Amino acid sequence: MSTHAPHAPHTAQPVALPATLDEAVAAMAAVPAAVPVAGGTDLMAGVNAGRLRPAALVGLGRLAELKGWEYQDGHALLGACLTHARMSRPDFATLIPALAAAARTAGPPQVRNAGTLGGNIVTAAPSGDTLPVLAALDAALLIAGPDGGSREIPVGQLLAGRDRLRGGELLTHVRVPLLYAPQSFLKATGRTGPGRAQASVAVVLDPVRREIRCAVGAVAPMPLRPLEAERWVASLVDWDGERALAPEVVGAFGEYVGMACVPDPEPGPEQEGGEAPRLPPAMLHLRRTVSALARRGLGRALA
Ligand SMILES: Cc1cc2nc3c(=O)[nH]c(=O)nc-3n(C[C@H](O)[C@H](O)[C@H](O)COP(=O)(O)OP(=O)(O)OC[C@H]3O[C@@H](n4cnc5c(N)ncnc54)[C@H](O)[C@@H]3O)c2cc1C
Repeated sequence: MSTHAPHAPHTAQPVALPATLDEAVAAMAAVPAAVPVAGGTDLMAGVNAGRLRPAALVGLGRLAELKGWEYQDGHALLGACLTHARMSRPDFATLIPALAAAARTAGPPQVRNAGTLGGNIVTAAPSGDTLPVLAALDAALLIAGPDGGSREIPVGQLLAGRDRLRGGELLTHVRVPLLYAPQSFLKATGRTGPGRAQASVAVVLDPVRREIRCAVGAVAPMPLRPLEAERWVASLVDWDGERALAPEVVGAFGEYVGMACVPDPEPGPEQEGGEAPRLPPAMLHLRRTVSALARRGLGRALA
C-alpha cells in the first residue's frame, strides 16, 4: 500500500535535484506528476520491477535541512530524510529509544544507510518498522504543499488511508513528543538476522499523562492500538513510586494485547448456539507471538 498519489505512466523521466526545501516544493509544483525519491529503497524496487514509471523524479537526497532534527515545545521535529542509520546512533537513542530500536532492525546495513523515516511512512507497508513506534507516540506529520501551503495530520490518519499526500505535497517533518521515560520496540521476523516483521510491538511510558501506550505492527494493514489493555495496565502502575508491576500483570497485559490484535473469529449464523469457531493454527501462532512481544516489551520498559 502506498499513501502517495498514483505514479503516472510516461516515457521521459527528468530528475530534479533541489538543494533546499523551497526548491523541492517548487520542483514538485512545476511537474504535477513528479514523484519524490529519498533513499529509493522502496521506490526504485518498484521501478526496477516495472510496477512504477514515474513521469519525473524529485530527489530529496540533498536536502540537508530534512536530515536532522530540532526541538520545539517539548517535541522533536524529525526531518523526513533522517536515515535509519542516523536514527540508530546513541544520541538519537537517548532521545527516542523505541524509534532508534526500530531503525536498527530495518533491513540490512545498505538499506539502513539509504532508507529514510519519510519513505518508511509514505510507503506505509504493514511491516514498516517505524510505524508502530510513531503510532504509540501519537506522532504528527508536517506536510508542505505547492504555493507555500502546509498542514499537519496525525500519523494514524495517513496510515489508515483517511488522508493522503496530495499531488505536489512533501512530507517534511515528523513531530514526536519527548517523553524522557523508558520505551521499547521488539520485532519477530521468523528467521535470524535482518528481515521484515511478522509482528512488532512498541511500548512507551508517558509519566506526565500517566499512560502506557502500545502499538502492534505487521498484523494488520496499519498499526493497531489495544486501547483497553493500555488503560487497564496504566491504572495498575504506581506513577509516583517505582512503576513496577508483578510478573503476572505483565503476562496478563501480553495476553490482553494478543487477544485484542488477533481476535477470535466472529461466529457465523450456522454456529449460533454451537461450538465457537477456532483460530487457524497460523493465527494462533501470530497471537502468541504478539502476546510474547507485548509482555517482553512492557517488561523492558518497566525494568
Ligand atoms: C532489502 C530490503 C529490506 C528492507 N527491510 C525493511 C525492514 O526490515 N523494515 C522496514 O521498515 N523497511 C524495510 N525495507 C523498506 C525500506 O527500506 C523502508 O521503507 C525505507 O524507510 C524507505 O525509505 P526510502 O527513503 O528508501 O524511500 P523511497 O524509496 O525513496 O520512497 C518510498 C515512497 O515514499 C515517497 N517519499 C519518500 N520520501 C518522501 C517525502 N519526504 N515526502 C513525500 N513522499 C516521500 C516516495 O515517493 C515513494 O512513494 C526494506 C527494503 C529493502 C530493499
